[in-house]
Amino acid sequence: MDKNKRTEISSLGEFKLIDRICAPFQSEQKSTVKEAGDDAAVIDAGDRYILLSNDLMLEGVNFDLTYFPLQHLGYKAVVVGISDILAMNGTPRQILIALGISSRFSVEMIDLFYEGVRAACQDYHVDLVGGDTSASVNGLTLSITATGDVEKDKIVYRSGANTNDLVCLSGDLGAAYMGIHLLEREKRACNGQPNPHPKFEGYEYILRRQLKPEARMDIIEHLAQNGIVPTSMIDISDGLASEALHLCKASDKGMRIYLNRLPIAKQTYAMAEELHSDPVVAALNGGDDYELLFTVPLSKQAEISAMGIDIIGHITAPDTGAKLITPDGQEIALRAQGWK
Ligand code: ADP
Ligand code: MG
Repeated sequence: MDKNKRTEISSLGEFKLIDRICAPFQSEQKSTVKEAGDDAAVIDAGDRYILLSNDLMLEGVNFDLTYFPLQHLGYKAVVVGISDILAMNGTPRQILIALGISSRFSVEMIDLFYEGVRAACQDYHVDLVGGDTSASVNGLTLSITATGDVEKDKIVYRSGANTNDLVCLSGDLGAAYMGIHLLEREKRACNGQPNPHPKFEGYEYILRRQLKPEARMDIIEHLAQNGIVPTSMIDISDGLASEALHLCKASDKGMRIYLNRLPIAKQTYAMAEELHSDPVVAALNGGDDYELLFTVPLSKQAEISAMGIDIIGHITAPDTGAKLITPDGQEIALRAQGWK
């Protein structure tokens, strides 16, 4: 290694950095079926596959406790973890949460956080089976490990999309992103006031999408009941554009998504208008939606529509790339986000 060389992480970005970290590692264990690169790692457990996923949530980066109630944060931590298990078509089973806690936190505050964790564990039928606890210099740090399992012939990777498959989406986009913008605006407006009265009326939906997201276990169950195994799948934590590109790259395919088919909620539009921002940018790049983006063969069109799932586009040959098609037929190339 050249000791004088310094490459800024921003010049690589999140996704290239992960590729660089993982590239020199080669699996030695026969049971390692899929290492880094999908929503969860896949381990051969004999008759089934075990799924493993880890997520990091840092105060000041991923959440702001000025407006994020600790119970909601506990709930969201579990949702974030199990969403990646669902994205492999798996059933979430266990969760481990490691905490870094600064002296600003009291025992009662940690109790509140775990009230939320418990509520989510009950809602999604997962067990908290461990974690770690350490002092922290800087606020609250959360590391969430989720486990799950799936029958071997039911596993869904990011890589299985076929040309002409339908691109399906489990719910609306951009609401959580507009929710955080509303919370930030009211934080600024209330700053320094002795009796702050944030204005949230009419925006309950976008706030809920940010503060109490749900993982789409219902969709995974519904697909299974209808005998549908998607050809590829990913959960939307970073925004549709990034996740669509991950799916295209892993499947070595292109994608056409139609702008007028993107599900965007009324409150997302209304908030975007109030803040003079673009609801489509929120849908494409916002993140924190925890919806599922998946592909199915064209023959499943009627069943998917009957389930109330939005079909937003289709898979194309790799050379056409990933494109957003505007109502007047213009093609806009999708761009990956990720942090820098
Ligand atoms: P998601 O948004 O679904 O949680 P990420 O974008 O965080 O996924 O990660 C994508 C893939 O890269 C995952 O398979 C994850 O395990 C892997 N990954 C991320 N960071 C690291 C790291 N520091 N070391 C090894 N693998 C990583
Ligand atoms: Mg994911």
